[in-house]
Amino acid sequence: MADPKGFLSTDREVAKTRPVDERVKDWNEVYVPGSLLPIISKQAGRCMDCGIPFCHNGCPLGNLIPEWNDYAYREDWRAASERLHATNNFPEFTGRLCPAPCESACVLGINQPPVTIKNVEVTIIDKAWDAGDVTPQPPERLSGKTVAVIGSGPAGLAAAQQLTRAGHTVAVYERADRIGGLLRYGIPEFKMEKRHINRRIEQMRAEGTKFRTETEIGRDIDAAKLRKRYDAVVIAAGATTSRDLPVPGRELNGIHFAMEYLPLANKVQEGDLTTSPITAEGKHVVVIGGGDTGADCVGTAHRQGAASVTQLEIMPRPGDERNANQPWPTFPMLYKVTSAHEEGGERIYSVSTTHFEGDEDGNVQWLHLTEVEFKDGKLEQKPGTERKIPAQLVTLAMGFTGTDQKNGLVEQFGLELDERGNIARDADFATNVPGVFVAGDAGRGQSLIVWAIAEGRSAARGVDRYLAGASELPAPIRPTDRALMV
Ligand SMILES: Cc1cc2nc3c(=O)[nH]c(=O)nc-3n(C[C@H](O)[C@H](O)[C@H](O)COP(=O)(O)OP(=O)(O)OC[C@H]3O[C@@H](n4cnc5c(N)ncnc54)[C@H](O)[C@@H]3O)c2cc1C
Ligand code: SF4
Repeated sequence: MADPKGFLSTDREVAKTRPVDERVKDWNEVYVPGSLLPIISKQAGRCMDCGIPFCHNGCPLGNLIPEWNDYAYREDWRAASERLHATNNFPEFTGRLCPAPCESACVLGINQPPVTIKNVEVTIIDKAWDAGDVTPQPPERLSGKTVAVIGSGPAGLAAAQQLTRAGHTVAVYERADRIGGLLRYGIPEFKMEKRHINRRIEQMRAEGTKFRTETEIGRDIDAAKLRKRYDAVVIAAGATTSRDLPVPGRELNGIHFAMEYLPLANKVQEGDLTTSPITAEGKHVVVIGGGDTGADCVGTAHRQGAASVTQLEIMPRPGDERNANQPWPTFPMLYKVTSAHEEGGERIYSVSTTHFEGDEDGNVQWLHLTEVEFKDGKLEQKPGTERKIPAQLVTLAMGFTGTDQKNGLVEQFGLELDERGNIARDADFATNVPGVFVAGDAGRGQSLIVWAIAEGRSAARGVDRYLAGASELPAPIRPTDRALMV
């Protein structure tokens, strides 16, 4: 146990963020660099090393949280990093971006603020990189088997790293010009600076993983050719088809999917563009969708100099406390104030967009909405609540409907889909096509980075068993797992 009295003597303290005025003028991460290190050992000392660590079940990766809290408390950073990497290939991603369902399941959280697990995680991995403890781990011998991974998001990267380390020769195919999936082109720089992806890719290259960018499977290379060239295939192509809003005026200029808007801002940060062709500068911005993707649009619009930012959500405002039907240790739906929300803008709940209105040049100018309420379990419009708000840039952040089928990937492989439109798989993450596996959002549907990594690790075990007959790789989850409802 870290500090037997830590949870009694130390209050919860989290990473400090930079002042809003300062951070909206740049794109760097919102945190004060180095602010965690002086406090984190004491924070880790709040861990009670419970007999049954519910945080393990809260974390889809099954991270060994009390073990690394103990090492962090003792400032044995190398040992902490070793335990962290035992279950998580990329803790620098989850330590920055995970909604931390582990903290919702922390036993201390029953009647006190939980341990700052996520902050401990990111400190351990940042220290490990700084100390040079994160080194390539190439396999001792090669199996002679080859694997193609389609998609370079967290699921594809985790599968590729596991399979490379198991001795297989792995090539990752990515249709975008850079590796990283939504980590690279969805999530803005102010949530995670892309240098964290770049150094992981360097580690993976040094271990032997090959990367092929600007290659879309189904279009540039067809499925039959890929099957012939490789002994197994992992599809980790994400769920990148955006949900649309087919209301009158949708065709007006200035209405974009979030995933048309955000990647361009990220491309400016990569140095590919000087300014984004879709910018919020000087405009009244409306973001439709109250989730993480919407919050990323809000933060991006602030940094581009929007005149105003309004975020709309069709569902009612979540509560500040757990509902009775979401008891500890489940992951509750709570009202969240993200860093982007701290920076300004207005959030409007229980509203639905009825139509858009434009000017004579076809540019969107107004968004018409109405309030909605639940009646007999159904959302209905409230008569007499119609109004319009200024909207010169609208981003649609209402989620994703499944994996992209336009390139023929699903059809060419002959893949079966499940009832939700995701690629169907069995307990080993194998699809209906022998030797073809699926991991991440492509099989699970739109989810989280921590699930994508867990799926990539688990699918890698399925592939290894298929290729070698047995596997020593871990499989933290099964496809149907929903650890504590996240
Ligand atoms: C804006 C945004 C913000 C988010 N923020 C968070 C967050 O803060 N925390 C969190 O936990 N989760 C967040 N998520 C969700 C998270 O990013 C995803 O759940 C996760 O990235 C899924 O990983 P994946 O590897 O399955 O797919 P993806 O990351 O989507 O990667 C799939 C990759 O496959 C490539 N691809 C697709 N088809 C082909 C093909 N035919 N050939 C070659 N390549 C192909 C795509 O270009 C893409 O690079 C966010 C999502 C979005 C959109
Ligand atoms: S990956 Fe997420 S759930 Fe798991 S320990 Fe880290 S913050 Fe918690």
